[in-house]
Amino acid sequence: MERIKALVRDVPDFPVPGIIFKDITPVLKDPEALGTIIEEFRKKYASLKIDAIVGIESRGFIIGTPLALALKVPFVPIRKVGKLPFDKISVSYKLEYGEATIEMHTDALEKGDRVIIVDDLLATGGTTAASIVLVEKLGAEVLRCAFVIELGFLNGRKVLPEGKVDSLIVYD
Ligand code: AMP
Repeated sequence: MERIKALVRDVPDFPVPGIIFKDITPVLKDPEALGTIIEEFRKKYASLKIDAIVGIESRGFIIGTPLALALKVPFVPIRKVGKLPFDKISVSYKLEYGEATIEMHTDALEKGDRVIIVDDLLATGGTTAASIVLVEKLGAEVLRCAFVIELGFLNGRKVLPEGKVDSLIVYD
């Protein structure tokens, strides 16, 4: 994980002044590093009964899709407003910077499905908390929330279900 942490690039003042953006593109360029991330999560969740991996647009897709394949379970996308073509449900929430609405198809999950939500980074937790609302609206259950990076100083964990957050790299 230290090698992966060293690959994450800090970009100051992106997308707005005062934010230090954690750029994972150097990690994605390194197949060994990306493979280690997917394998870490696969091992963690291999013994759970999971019905789907739910990935949050857009970097949650990059991590979530190979993880779903590795676990041999369906992948479900949560997308930004206006992108999904079929019947959908929506929720609006506050970001570390700005505001957003996310959506999921109404047929994405079945009642009683057990899912893991995946994103690249946990900041304030707003995006994931909103994603949990969408999953639960369809009657599914969130088993775990998985992140490559957690910005611990923003206390995003506090707005997520206790004991259900897994992150590989934490910045305190
Ligand atoms: P939040 O809802 O505050 O937890 O924000 C999480 C979402 O915003 C994730 O999809 C992240 O990819 C993105 N994000 C927020 N803050 C940062 C940051 N400092 N660096 C990179 N991505 C970020």
